[in-house]
Amino acid sequence: IPEITVIGAGLAGSEAALAAARAGVRVRLHEMRPGKMTPAHRTANFAELVCSTSLGGEGEMQSKGLLQAEMRSVGAAIVTAADDTRVPAGNALAVDREAFSARVTQAVRAHPLIEVVEGELDAVPEGIVVVATGPLTSDALAADLMRLTGSERLSFYDAAAPVIEADSIDLSVAWRAGRYDQSADYINCPFTKDEYLAFMAALEQARSHTPHDWEKLEFFEGCMPIEEIARRGVDTPRFGPMSPKGLDDPRTGRWPYAVAQLRQEDAGGRMWSLVGFQTGLKWGDQKALVQLIPGLQNAEIVRYGVMHRNTYLNAPEVLHPTLQLRADPDKFVAGVLAGTEGYLESSATGWLAGTNAARLARGQEPLVPPAESMLGGLVRYLASANPKGFQPMNVNWALVPELPAEINERTGKPRKLGKREKRPPLYRRGLGAFMAWAAQEAGLSVTPPPVSEPEPEEG
Ligand code: FAD
Repeated sequence: IPEITVIGAGLAGSEAALAAARAGVRVRLHEMRPGKMTPAHRTANFAELVCSTSLGGEGEMQSKGLLQAEMRSVGAAIVTAADDTRVPAGNALAVDREAFSARVTQAVRAHPLIEVVEGELDAVPEGIVVVATGPLTSDALAADLMRLTGSERLSFYDAAAPVIEADSIDLSVAWRAGRYDQSADYINCPFTKDEYLAFMAALEQARSHTPHDWEKLEFFEGCMPIEEIARRGVDTPRFGPMSPKGLDDPRTGRWPYAVAQLRQEDAGGRMWSLVGFQTGLKWGDQKALVQLIPGLQNAEIVRYGVMHRNTYLNAPEVLHPTLQLRADPDKFVAGVLAGTEGYLESSATGWLAGTNAARLARGQEPLVPPAESMLGGLVRYLASANPKGFQPMNVNWALVPELPAEINERTGKPRKLGKREKRPPLYRRGLGAFMAWAAQEAGLSVTPPPVSEPEPEEG
């Protein structure tokens, strides 16, 4: 029987091990707990939920709802354990923390093809391996990963800025340009003096009631949170990330008082991140602040800024969309280490890495799910995102291609669809494409998951 190794029995590693074992491959699963704990884990259980107990919103209106349905259709272990141990939580898939991890631990330990090896691995072994050691990967293994991928490609904390959906940027206010004569790679949001001072006052107010866990971290100057830059003086951002230099506003022909710049994150230009706006502010405050930026008054935030300890690879520089390392295709990476964020995303990439590692061990080609599916969109993003300042990503609707444009007969222009109109068809298209791919290309047994009712607003 072919054999693979999985390192880490967290959300991604447990799912990877079970997916590979179900494909008939023998798995050696290494887990360092309880002998060596991480700063966040409290138990010896596999797939321990270190903080909240929610795997995200459910239903046809939710991007996480689509990913849950895709994982359900192939009987993936984490979502099955979550369904079995769920507790009422409105429109979210929330679980009983203890019962959930106990269920996953039992499934892993009971599988005849999985051998659990207790203890820390300090180097990636030979052969086909899935590395899923998570945001708190032990130091020795992190050092070995740097050897495999290059030291500048492994980060130890997030310093993430909010990411905005392109559709929600008002281009009658903001405009595309580079500084001076550079190419027009940025979207620029111009502030008048009054707008800037109002923004700074709101930032100061938000800063004063946010817990600063990240203050214990040492920041490189380039990763300083915006609230920290602002604390140094009201004009400091204006001479830093919000400098207007070299940016002629087409409406006035002059440099504005200050500018917030957005940089393209994905190849298709659907997601833009605020340059130099890494922040640890509470999410409600972030939204209010971002919407004070001229041109972003209706901004849809697809990923909020965060500042916390995290270990992850610069996925677009090191990974194929199959989750194989470019430097060594026998090695797969999954979970937070692969540049995803969230329990559900970690387990789904674990499922793909385990499935692909098993395929490789059996002499088959590793696969990539279709672009219309949420998992396919996520892994394509990981492999093709802008590597400059790459930050871990959670699932969102901008990861999948848009629906074909409907032309308004009267105006002859494409009709803009509202969320309620476009998300249910995107959900059905994505789930259909994923199930067809899983059955036909991956040769898996597929069960259509129960149809979920459309739910209100994505949280
Ligand atoms: P993990 O689940 O952490 O699994 C990694 C496993 O590898 C661990 O069991 C670890 O003990 C083991 N390991 C590490 N190094 C080695 C080694 N050298 N040898 C053997 N084993 C090793 N996401 C959410 O969706 N909701 C939240 O509320 C949330 N809260 C978070 C809070 C904190 C403090 C952190 C750090 C992250 C949080 N996340 C949250 C993000 C992320 O979704 C979770 O961390 C998730 O558990 C990641 O899954 P994973 O499989 O990548 O890593």
